[in-house]
Amino acid sequence: MRCPFCAHAQSKVVDSRDTSDFRIRRRRECLKCAKRFTTFEDVQLEEITVIKKDGRREPFDRNKLLAGLMRACEKRPVPRLVVEKIVEAVEQRLRKRPHKEVPTTLIGELVMERLKKADQVAYIRFASVYRSFTDIDSFEKALHALKKAARK
Ligand SMILES: [Zn+2]
Repeated sequence: MRCPFCAHAQSKVVDSRDTSDFRIRRRRECLKCAKRFTTFEDVQLEEITVIKKDGRREPFDRNKLLAGLMRACEKRPVPRLVVEKIVEAVEQRLRKRPHKEVPTTLIGELVMERLKKADQVAYIRFASVYRSFTDIDSFEKALHALKKAARK
């Protein structure tokens, strides 16, 4: 939200109110030139609902996802910021979808796609939980696919 007068990137909110068209009107004050301007920001109306494998539904919880990722990254050289960015990117992807009901498997795939690039051990750990590898075979298959991809 850049200042329209001096293009400075930071401003503070001095007043905020809901408008009838599901937008929030904010009065901001530029932290550099102190001029005031108005912004309209979209309100996130819909909650994302996660559909679990057994059919149960629950609201999407970014903290829960973050915790799961942190667990997978335990003792791995993955900075917390990188993990947070993955969660953020996944949430953004989910919000862009027209349907606000999302199967856990899709969330898992979106995370794994990104985690694979960040840390392969963390990726395997996460995949083993998310895909719930039932036997050592499927686990080895995933490892094998990873190694094959790495060689390319
Ligand atoms: Zn300014």
